[in-house]
Order: sequence, then C-alpha cells, then structure tokens
Amino acid sequence: MNRTEELAAGLARTRERTAAAARAAGRDPGDLTLVVVTKFFPADDVRRLAGLGVADAGESRDQEASSKAAELADLDLRWHFVGQLQTNKARSVARYADVVHSVDRTRLAAALQAGAAHAGRRVGCFVQVDLAAGLGLDVDAGRGGAVGDDVLRVADAVAAGEHLALRGVMAVAPQGVEPARAFAELARTAERVRALHPGAVDVSAGMSGDLEEAVAAGATHLRVGSAILGSRPPAR
Ligand SMILES: *Cc1c(COP(=O)(O)O)cnc(C)c1O
Repeated sequence: MNRTEELAAGLARTRERTAAAARAAGRDPGDLTLVVVTKFFPADDVRRLAGLGVADAGESRDQEASSKAAELADLDLRWHFVGQLQTNKARSVARYADVVHSVDRTRLAAALQAGAAHAGRRVGCFVQVDLAAGLGLDVDAGRGGAVGDDVLRVADAVAAGEHLALRGVMAVAPQGVEPARAFAELARTAERVRALHPGAVDVSAGMSGDLEEAVAAGATHLRVGSAILGSRPPAR
C-alpha cells in the first residue's frame, strides 16, 4: 500500500465507525464534522487527505500549523486549532485558523478577538472544559480547560468578541474515566452554556479511541488523528 491508500483506508474505517455510531444513537451522520488531526505529520499527508475529500484539518502547535496552512493555501481546507494555546500565539493563530477548539481563558478570548479583528477575519471558538473537576478527579493542569463557572465566563468573553463566533464546548476525556461518563458531564456543561448562548450548539469531543462514546453523548465535531494517519512520529 502506498501512503495515499493507507490514508484512504484509515479514513474509510473512521467514516464507517462514525456512521455506525450515529446510526446506533439515532443521529444523522451528516450532522457530524470529522476533523482529521494531522499534527506531527507532513504537509504532504494533509494534501493527500484533502484529495480524499477531507475538508477539516486539526493542528495543535502554532508554528507547525501556520507553516502547513501557508504551504497548503491552494487547498480549500478549514484549519482547526485543537492544542493548548499561549496568549502570545493567539495573534498568529487568528491569521489562519477557522476554528479554535481550546479557548479556556477570558484573556485568550480577548487576544483571539484582537488577532481576528487585526486580520479582518472571523474565528469560530469552542470553550475547552476540564472535565476532571466535574467528575471528582484532580484537575489536570497539563491539559488545559476551564473549570466550573469559568466555562460560562469564557463563553461570555467569546460571545462578546465581534470577530469571534461561539460554537460550543470541547473536551478531552480524562485518563482513567469511562469516556461515556466524561462525555455525559460535557453534555451537561454544554447545556449550561446553551441556556445563556442558544447558538452555541456544537460539541467537540471524541478522538480515535472514544469517538463512539462521544457520538452517543451528542458530539458534533470529532477530532481524529492516529486512527487515520497511524501512530504519530515523535515530537520534533
Ligand atoms: C492529538 C489530539 C487529538 C487526536 O488524537 P488521536 O487519539 O490521535 O485521535 C484530538 N484532540 C486533541 C486535543 C489532540 O491534541
């Protein structure tokens, strides 16, 4: 198999899993957006994926993402930034990202708003939630995410940004918790946000290992990397 065939096979398997999970949950597979997380893989892989019909690519580091977005500017791709984001990188990310999934601080929302305004763009935002606290676990400082009422404060800050669009909430299921339990907690948080911001209807959840549970719990955006691209090369 050449690389394109490999990627096509991973993509087909993932689309089958997603469709089966949607059917099992009585949901329309057309309501699910598959974001293929291409971090650590070369731009050539992203180009191959675009040729296979992928419209949404996810990245987690600004330097890598900005150079791929520039190199692949001829493609009609939406770029999703899914990694932890330092405030001082927000201006750069706002230049190429269509959607940021990891907005977890009001200061970051303000920096993205300023960057998007400067670039004359509109950036979609998910508020990243740290599910550990709501599940009674130690909060995992390493992975990011807002906790408790801070989720609502960050949502308000995004909603106030004229160049930002509040899409909904995002989370990564914490280690050592059943994904179904984690995503049920995320669904409750999504409802709290939606009570204040009715347009925030999207939920970004589910990765290679737990996309079925995420679809069952109402995810609209799945962020899938290794199930499509294979195991990631070590970080450079
Ligand atoms: C890397 C990453 C993914 C993809 O993970 P896989 O297990 O390879 O599917 C999804 N979401 C975030 C936030 C990531 O950093």
